[in-house]
Amino acid sequence: MFEKVLVANRGEIALRIHRACKEMGIRTVAIHSTADSDAMHVRLADEAVCVGPAQARESYLNIPAILSAATITGADAIHPGYGFLSENADFASMVEEHGFTFIGPSPDHIRMMGDKIAAKRAAVETGIPVVPGSDGAVQDTGEALRVARDIGFPVLIKAAAGGGGRGMKVAETEAGLKEAWQLARTEALAAFGNEEVYIEKYLKRPRHIEIQILADLHGNVVHLGERDCSLQRRHQKVLEEAPSPALNWSQRAEIGKIAADAIRKLGYRSVGTIEFLYENGGFYFIEMNTRLQVEHPVTEMICGLDLVREMVRVASGAPLGYTQENLRFSGHAIECRINAEDPDTFLPSPGRVGDYHPPGGLGVRVDSAIYSGYTIPPYYDSMIGKLIVHGANRNECLMRLRRCLEEYVIDGIKSTIPLHQRLVANPDFVNGDYDIHWLEKFVGMK
Ligand code: ADP
Repeated sequence: MFEKVLVANRGEIALRIHRACKEMGIRTVAIHSTADSDAMHVRLADEAVCVGPAQARESYLNIPAILSAATITGADAIHPGYGFLSENADFASMVEEHGFTFIGPSPDHIRMMGDKIAAKRAAVETGIPVVPGSDGAVQDTGEALRVARDIGFPVLIKAAAGGGGRGMKVAETEAGLKEAWQLARTEALAAFGNEEVYIEKYLKRPRHIEIQILADLHGNVVHLGERDCSLQRRHQKVLEEAPSPALNWSQRAEIGKIAADAIRKLGYRSVGTIEFLYENGGFYFIEMNTRLQVEHPVTEMICGLDLVREMVRVASGAPLGYTQENLRFSGHAIECRINAEDPDTFLPSPGRVGDYHPPGGLGVRVDSAIYSGYTIPPYYDSMIGKLIVHGANRNECLMRLRRCLEEYVIDGIKSTIPLHQRLVANPDFVNGDYDIHWLEKFVGMK
């Protein structure tokens, strides 16, 4: 087992990883920018190294500085968290070339899944159902039209290098295809430096359902059930729950097995998430995330595993030590992402936190790195915490969540707590009756 792990991240996820390491008897090294000297992840780590100025490009994305920090502190392994360098295959390679263990998948798998066309091809080859669409990249508008006629309108033109919902345009009819094609390519080139696009059937009212998988270095793979992440604003997840109110146990077992079998065929290691759109009983692969996800706690709450601990264990070469049959899913969990944003306009609201009182009690977990007197810097993502609640069933979970959202006090800044309070009182949400477009309408309704 490792003696010292460097955590190449900040905020709640850096703290989350630190906590798992401490409980395993592993010492931790924090990295931070000059803007984060007072951050909780720095205060709690055994050692901390400043890797650069506030701008992420010069600190949290500064590979030479991070590798130097690992060298001078004598770390054995590096955990990238999510965001920043977590899905950068070159970073993962460099970590290994410098003699550290990368706590995550192999650089080749990160690279493969980062190219959405290669990822979709791998999905097809390993038996994962995909959205009907073009076979790889589409070269010109003539080919685009042939593909679109074949699968039927509406279609979605997507960037091969896509991410964060950018470079994605819907064409409702033949007349709109040329314009959508041009816009998607221009946006893809500007955002990713690569204008390659492909085409998919545009699903009208799908849910976003993703399967968590976990694999060791010895070919053992399990799935940890699904998360329903349909509640999104501008392709950003806002609230996630497990299990999905839309699936029954046989659907869950079936899609979980398809995902786990595919991962075994790929020879993949560590955690990963296979994202699907789900409509009319069918699952359609959209992408795979080769990292720990923000919403991993809802899975932990229903299956009783510490996913960061598992990542560290398997990275050190330890076998999983359990099989699919050993795993039990129990109760229901919901996560609310709390952002430092105006709950009506969604404008960022950084600044100094005044009184701070997180909720507590049975089945309640708050993953956050803020504290009273902490100044939220304006340079990074606006998510400042996650409230995760577990209950014996969905109803108990909802009652508990409402209670917690009433208790939660974060003074001095604006947060999205009022949005969540409104959301958990809505009858459609209470009934589990929502798709990926529902939240945008709900937000606009006020
Ligand atoms: P990105 O990597 O940019 O996040 P994804 O492929 O994961 O792109 O898609 C992001 C979101 O776009 C999905 O969660 C879904 O809301 C929507 N989307 C993607 N593909 C389709 C599709 N074929 N039909 C309808 N919506 C889609």
